[in-house]
Amino acid sequence: MSDSKPGTLIDGREIAQAIRDEVKAQIEEWTEAHRPPFLSAVLVGDNPASKAYVRGKEQDAAEVGIETNTHHYDSDLSEEALLDTVRGLNGDPSVDGILVQLPLPDHIDDRAVIDTIDPKKDVDGFHPANLGRLMRGNPSFVPATPYGIVTMLDRCGIDPKGMDTVIVGRSNIVGKPLANLLMQRDRNATVTVCHSRTKDLAAHTRRADLLVAAVGQAEMIGADMVKNGAVVIDVGINRVDDASNERGYRLVGDIDFEEVRPKSSWITPVPGGVGLMTRAMLLKNTMTAARLHATA
Ligand code: NDP
Repeated sequence: MSDSKPGTLIDGREIAQAIRDEVKAQIEEWTEAHRPPFLSAVLVGDNPASKAYVRGKEQDAAEVGIETNTHHYDSDLSEEALLDTVRGLNGDPSVDGILVQLPLPDHIDDRAVIDTIDPKKDVDGFHPANLGRLMRGNPSFVPATPYGIVTMLDRCGIDPKGMDTVIVGRSNIVGKPLANLLMQRDRNATVTVCHSRTKDLAAHTRRADLLVAAVGQAEMIGADMVKNGAVVIDVGINRVDDASNERGYRLVGDIDFEEVRPKSSWITPVPGGVGLMTRAMLLKNTMTAARLHATA
């Protein structure tokens, strides 16, 4: 691992900007011989967070030269109608990448929708074929959040080889794919995945050289749960009331940042950490989709 002072920040802003610059340069070169990559987003309903995410993704894409459109439907859209939309995008040669913003309304089965996306256009990397390739060690698309985390580690010169790694959270979009990425032969971490049924969570987290929190509970991991010198990655994004903030709330992670930072060797902040990487890696995946599409 590269040397760092205790509590060195892993700066998601800086690393994400570097990724965006790289993707932009790749697209400039790509468009000398091809049309720009095209990403189609599908949004169902009026969840304000989902709308904001999709808007953010459109803006990010525009900045690097990816073209986008968004298919926005009312929340009463039927599952079959959504599947038809996805099938239409699968067959549309002008579309390289498809992104269905989750969560979907309760009457629609997320899995049926994800399973319908053409794996070659699945820029989120959630299709079972892409998760299977990831598990086998030759991914086409890596889900953006785990991809962002391993990219942060790489760019900071943090080699997870042999590290006792504890991931708290086993979701299909963060914990499970991240565990797979870190345990592959190119990274060689020794991975434990914890969840709500784990007995004595602190006993696991305290022995972690690399600790990843992806739970969704504000500041649940304090200094007493962290080993001296650990690398700490905070995926959580939680709103806590804050009257001093004009929005009435502020964002915090799953890690108690102030407490844990002095004990860590490296740590990601919230905001300014993993979230920005997630956004940047989607752009990288869209460029990959354009290449796959052009060679299909
Ligand atoms: P999920 O709700 O899908 O998963 C949460 C996981 O945490 C589950 O595995 C759950 O266990 C586990 N968990 C819940 N409570 C505890 C507990 N007390 N002790 C140990 N484990 C517990 O969440 P996501 O993976 O989608 O997201 C996690 C967090 O990361 C959220 O704050 C989300 O907003 C954020 N996020 C951030 C992203 C970014 O780009 N920075 C991207 C994606 C998510 P069980 O499986 O047993 O229920």
